[in-house]
Amino acid sequence: ESKRGGRAQATVFDIEMLRDQNQDRFYERELRAAILMNELELAYQPIVGTENELRACEALLRWRHPVRGLIAPSEFIPVAERSLLIDMLGEWVLRRACLDFADEPQSKVGVNFSANQFKRDDVVMMVERVLRETGMPATRLAIEITESVAMNASKAVLDRLHRLRAMGIHISLDDFGAGHCGFSYLRNFPVDSIKIDRSFVGKLEESEVDRTILLALTQVSRALGLKIIAEGIETEDQRLIAGVAGCDLFQGYHIARPQPLAQIKRDWLRHRLEKRPVAEPVEGEA
Ligand code: C2E
Ligand code: MG
Ligand code: MG
Ligand code: MG
Repeated sequence: ESKRGGRAQATVFDIEMLRDQNQDRFYERELRAAILMNELELAYQPIVGTENELRACEALLRWRHPVRGLIAPSEFIPVAERSLLIDMLGEWVLRRACLDFADEPQSKVGVNFSANQFKRDDVVMMVERVLRETGMPATRLAIEITESVAMNASKAVLDRLHRLRAMGIHISLDDFGAGHCGFSYLRNFPVDSIKIDRSFVGKLEESEVDRTILLALTQVSRALGLKIIAEGIETEDQRLIAGVAGCDLFQGYHIARPQPLAQIKRDWLRHRLEKRPVAEPVEGEA
């Protein structure tokens, strides 16, 4: 490689990097303001059992931008992850989700955590504090981490996950099968359930091989005491196949779309309200 070529390339690279950094900083400032301006909200997607009964709701972050409309998390979470903002954002999501579900004993709530959130030693204390302040029982919180976090977890990160799990928090491995899914590391990994990625679920109808892999996966999981959640269920056939293969829980547009809390309460939690009038004393309840 000639030096000249190298330098020219470096210049272009620098300019692009500068532009990216500026864009990041701009986005970052907007995101920080969004938290203060109440522009963030959570949508909840039901996760059901084999009888279509509600077992949990996954909290999915939305940004209702005054000019740009609804922005998906894939657009702004990576920006937050490159800055320290992810900690602020992560805590906001956790607190909102816990506040929303503290008084819904019928349903767990799942919260997505970024890899970067586990790089801080005070993540365990932050979670403890939010649970205490919101009155949310640890046993009804599920923390979702992606498979890549799990595979690259340092000893310190593993230790934090172990401590969270020891508190009674459910740890879920998200997007399993999207990357290189290995099973060996799961043996020592503090995890309670595995969410099969929708890219995998989407292939079940056509692919006999994938059905066989899923069957093997659920058998190993059962032996390890893990629950299997099939995510991204879009058709009744996918749900049936996933069920026959041994999945315990189901999530996807075919079951329910992510929706506002009010709608979850009306359509999924109403049953409980009918059975237990609000006037009844709830003394002694944890
Ligand atoms: P995820 O945790 O795997 O969440 C599932 C995503 O799949 C959600 O997209 C959901 O709306 C979508 N989905 C659910 N069922 C179906 C289906 O049947 N078909 C299709 N095509 N899609 C379905 P969403 O809300 O855009 O979130 C994307 C990702 O952003 C999430 O993937 C998660 O990794 C991340 N994310 C969302 N909220 C948060 C958050 O509060 N914190 C962090 N760190 N990440 C978040
Ligand atoms: Mg998730
Ligand atoms: Mg997922
Ligand atoms: Mg996914």
